[in-house]
Amino acid sequence: MNLKEEIDRLKKEKNAVILAHYYQEAEIQEIADYVGDSLGLSQQAEKVEADIIVFAGVHFMAETAKILNPSKKVLLPDLNAGCSLADSCPPEAFRQFIEQYPDHTVVTYINCSAAVKAMTDIVCTSSNAVKVIESIPKDQSIIFAPDKNLGKYLCHVTGREMVLWDGSCIVHEAFSIDKLLVLLKEHPDAKIIAHPESEEHILKTASYIGSTAGMLNCVKQNPEQKYIVATEAGILYEMRKEVPDAVLIPAPAKEDNTCACSECAYMKVNTLQKLYDCLLHEAPEIKLSEELRQQALIPINRMLKLSI
Ligand code: SF4
Repeated sequence: MNLKEEIDRLKKEKNAVILAHYYQEAEIQEIADYVGDSLGLSQQAEKVEADIIVFAGVHFMAETAKILNPSKKVLLPDLNAGCSLADSCPPEAFRQFIEQYPDHTVVTYINCSAAVKAMTDIVCTSSNAVKVIESIPKDQSIIFAPDKNLGKYLCHVTGREMVLWDGSCIVHEAFSIDKLLVLLKEHPDAKIIAHPESEEHILKTASYIGSTAGMLNCVKQNPEQKYIVATEAGILYEMRKEVPDAVLIPAPAKEDNTCACSECAYMKVNTLQKLYDCLLHEAPEIKLSEELRQQALIPINRMLKLSI
């Protein structure tokens, strides 16, 4: 059986679309109707008119699609596609945390559960986080969760002091500064570009810091350049497709692995076979109580209004 052809056939038969994150395997990105980062995927999910959304990404992303477009059936090829960052912020512990700071505005990065979003005033992604923070009056205190690295970066860029939740992404904390500096010596003409979920010492070496889509645009603007890319390695597929002349080197991870780069194990649990199976059986499906969905929708909509 040709899986790609069968997925295409099922997609037409069932009136489905596939939304995929840049960190998915290349073969999944190839068959997707839309490939993007968290902000792009949210904006796209809201607009979908087809009956079924197959979300090739991780759980909180599929959940966000369901929050934004509840009349659609939202499928995730494997429910084990979680996120270490979202898991680092359990809703009950977060509730107790924000109760200690009753006058603070709660800003959460989109990489969190619907239950945490429901306790949030405004959501952000790495594409719009600075804009979101700057939309809050300067004299208003802020809690930022769950990513402490992105939080520290935002404090630095906006000059705001924020109360930070102590969460992080295992993939973006896996980069080795020692190996990165060795790599830079071997490629002195290379520019380091990094995602703000990376640790401070990695960000200090970077000449560009931005979201996955921002990093892609940065490379597109100077396609002849050599880059060391400090984010999940899946983005290299799209970068190589869009900027074939750029030399792209994945930033090295602390652990030895075959490609010397960081891969998100959660993103990679989705496979073409699982995508086919989920479309065939229309399961696993993302379901949310209407009450929770409506609570989580408010801070997401505030973010989307700021991102037009
Ligand atoms: S790369 Fe990190 S933040 Fe992104 S889905 Fe994987 S674990 Fe979560």
